[in-house]
Amino acid sequence: MVQCVHTVKELRDIIKPLKAQGKTVGLVPTMGALHQGHASLISTSAKQNDITVVSVFVNPTQFGPNEDFDAYPRTLDSDLKVVEGAGGDIVFAPSPKEMYPSADDTWVEVTGDITKVLCGKTRPIHFRGVTTVVTKLFNIVGPTRAYFGQKDAQQVEVLRRMVKDLFVDIELVIVPINREDTGLARSSRNTYLSSEEKQAATVLSKSLKQALEDFKAGNDNLDNIIKSVTANIQKEPLANIEYVECYGLPGLYKLDTNVVAPSLLAVAVRFGNTRLIDNIILE
Ligand code: AMP
Repeated sequence: MVQCVHTVKELRDIIKPLKAQGKTVGLVPTMGALHQGHASLISTSAKQNDITVVSVFVNPTQFGPNEDFDAYPRTLDSDLKVVEGAGGDIVFAPSPKEMYPSADDTWVEVTGDITKVLCGKTRPIHFRGVTTVVTKLFNIVGPTRAYFGQKDAQQVEVLRRMVKDLFVDIELVIVPINREDTGLARSSRNTYLSSEEKQAATVLSKSLKQALEDFKAGNDNLDNIIKSVTANIQKEPLANIEYVECYGLPGLYKLDTNVVAPSLLAVAVRFGNTRLIDNIILE
């Protein structure tokens, strides 16, 4: 049976004795509206740790003023079932007041281009919200390992940087993108899509896959890669491109004329009012 707690104290009271017994703890931070993508993180943690804690918290500080914080789906009852099915043990579902007891004036922020390119361009406060809430969760849970999805590739790079720079003694485990049969990356925001938009959105994974094949065949010119992915996505009339960009890994460094393996090819595209992201590693 999954235990669901809402306060830091309740969670610590459960975890402390388990850690004292030497049990390993996996943490899976989420914003809820759980789907099979989240389940793949939870089941990976359940395999690798004695205890798996899943946080379900729609973090206000990572949403900009005109973003979908209020509309974001909140489905705790069905989330508990997903956690149970995937082998998780504890759900931590705090209120915003519990996570931000004083004014939101203590921040953990990774600065520099790594948080300014890609999603950072249109979401300037997003990563500061993510690194702050993840630090809070790390301090509350004190996990052995923490699980994040490759779906949010820039988030992964930013968190790796934070963990390195702040000497955080937690292993980050990155789980591959979980996709529907059509190739569409699973996302809580897919529930906003009409069936027509959902079908149209399959253009993202198809275009990225094509770019990987071209790259493997020797087409490594940065401009050409960006142009051909852009052109492929634009063939879909419902797609409205925010960015198609490519940066070197690790750390999202700026590439010169040619793409060097491994590099991250990432897109953000709107279908109606819904903004979707997807990516592939060119290697
Ligand atoms: P979210 O609830 O959207 O904040 O996501 C919580 C975690 O699940 C993040 O680390 C995401 O990268 C990860 N995640 C979300 N969707 C997927 C997916 N389709 N495949 C793999 N991981 C995912």
